[in-house]
Amino acid sequence: MKAVAIRRGSDEPELIEKPRPEPKHGEALVRTLRVGVDGTDHEVLSGSHGGFPEGEDHMVMGHEAVGVVEDPNGTGLDEGQYVVPTVRRKPNGETNEYFRRNEPDMAPDGEYFERGIVGEHGYMSEYFTSPADFLIPIEAEIAPYGIFVEPLSNTEKALEHARATRSAFDWYPESAAVLGNGPLGLLTLWQLTQEFDRTYCLGRRDRPDPTIEFIDEVGATYIDSRETPVDEIPDEHEGMDFIYEATGYAPHAFETVQALAPNGVGALLGIPGSWDFEIDGGSLHNDIVLHNKCLFGSVNAGIRHFAEGAAVVEAMPDDLLDHLVTTVTDPENVEPAFEDGDDQIKAIVEFESP
Ligand code: NDP
Repeated sequence: MKAVAIRRGSDEPELIEKPRPEPKHGEALVRTLRVGVDGTDHEVLSGSHGGFPEGEDHMVMGHEAVGVVEDPNGTGLDEGQYVVPTVRRKPNGETNEYFRRNEPDMAPDGEYFERGIVGEHGYMSEYFTSPADFLIPIEAEIAPYGIFVEPLSNTEKALEHARATRSAFDWYPESAAVLGNGPLGLLTLWQLTQEFDRTYCLGRRDRPDPTIEFIDEVGATYIDSRETPVDEIPDEHEGMDFIYEATGYAPHAFETVQALAPNGVGALLGIPGSWDFEIDGGSLHNDIVLHNKCLFGSVNAGIRHFAEGAAVVEAMPDDLLDHLVTTVTDPENVEPAFEDGDDQIKAIVEFESP
């Protein structure tokens, strides 16, 4: 079968031939329809994130996927069922307390593999196998957009954790800002417009730009960080009850505290590299304490968050989802899917039309 993989020592995706996988006991065989490309895939290609499966000279790319069950293999799934696979897997197939509790997203480094990112092949191949427990059934109508379930699962988890941090008092949030106008930020922005009265999204681009058009379309306010740095948002707009950081720009983690309203909560999702810079730690500490602010990090998602992510995709208008899809290529011609210009929002490698 065809697969798109990264080889050790290379920083470019390559089309390879691999044997079709055989499902083991408890696994189903899935025929791949579409696989999305995101910032993490670029980090995997550049070698700054993730790691190859042990003993392999390559890793099949891709962790945002949608497929259709080809062989249920006695798992209880139905042949022809559309599914989205989750990302985290037991390391070397060995379970641990996080997987036993159904909370693989809370496992620390070394206690999980991630398909297409660390330790295990991804989904960018004509077929893949997966334990049935890690395949989320979705409705046929959202199959063309199934690759959005995975990023939205990250948002569902972050929102659940944000609400949990504010659950000890009566919290009536009205304002929310997303930092970052990449695919994760824009999907999240739409979700926040459904829950918050006033929403904002931060970028660093001039109009006309497809991401700013999306921000306008969902009724949010665009903030250009070159004109309004994050710590000046309260003066220019208002203090935010909730901030979702999805830039990966490390100073934003700390500026988020200043941009929060009293009793607000900031979720950090971005994954920056090492970077030394100065901050006024005293004022930051003071602000967090005297205004009951909360800042937390969130990575990956639990199985229930994938089901919630699918519900968000179902609720999202098709024209907005279409706006986010800027490239669809076949596996023989993946280069355009890995281009990263300002006109690219979400690129998809399509193995079979959904
Ligand atoms: P992208 O890199 O596509 O998006 C980041 C966006 O932030 C870009 O549009 C970029 O603008 C913008 N940005 C960066 N710096 C600034 C700045 N100083 N001011 C204003 N805008 C800025 O990534 P994704 O949307 O795919 O993901 C967002 C982040 O979340 C990444 O760091 C990614 O690694 C991480 N991530 C984390 C997950 C988790 O579970 N925690 C899951 C998935 C992703 P421009 O394009 O104009 O440069």
